[in-house]
Amino acid sequence: MTHKDLAYAESLIAETPDYPEPGVLFRDISPMLADPAALREVCAAIVEPFKGQFDIVGGIEARGFLLAGYIAATEGVGMLPIRKAGKLPTPAAAVTYNLEYGSATIEAPGVLKPGERVLLVDDVLATGGTIAAAREIVSQLGAVTIGSAVILELLGLGGREHVGDIHTVFTA
Ligand code: AMP
Repeated sequence: MTHKDLAYAESLIAETPDYPEPGVLFRDISPMLADPAALREVCAAIVEPFKGQFDIVGGIEARGFLLAGYIAATEGVGMLPIRKAGKLPTPAAAVTYNLEYGSATIEAPGVLKPGERVLLVDDVLATGGTIAAAREIVSQLGAVTIGSAVILELLGLGGREHVGDIHTVFTA
């Protein structure tokens, strides 16, 4: 992996002002996902500090699924889908957390073994509420979060204070 590869990958994150609501600059990783080299390099950078230290990768709906599926395949581990409320027939864990406006609930199936080591991944860290809730979900399931990683950390939103240690590939 070279700095040039990652800089190229970063340039493929599209920015849309005022989406999904006024004042939000939405970061869309779709162009990065569509580029094989960028996808490969970014997923390698997400995993790099945790290589060989996790048994399963947890992806947060929806864009976290895409990263977690890729990483599970390349690292030879399983994948835990952490879903928005109401999508699972028999959720084994659920956490409700605050959003900027309102609240959200995430749920997960009871598929983890006791003490299983989980790496959590998502596309963007904003306030940190989603990753913090995902850590709580893993804890409810009796497993251990060994690390969390996102592609892009939005600085200035306090996310890092919320979630403690987190690995981020890019910052903005
Ligand atoms: P938060 O819980 O505030 O850290 O928000 C993180 C979650 O919301 C992630 O699943 C992101 O996909 C999504 N998200 C928040 N802000 C943005 C943004 N500006 N652009 C794209 N996704 C975002």
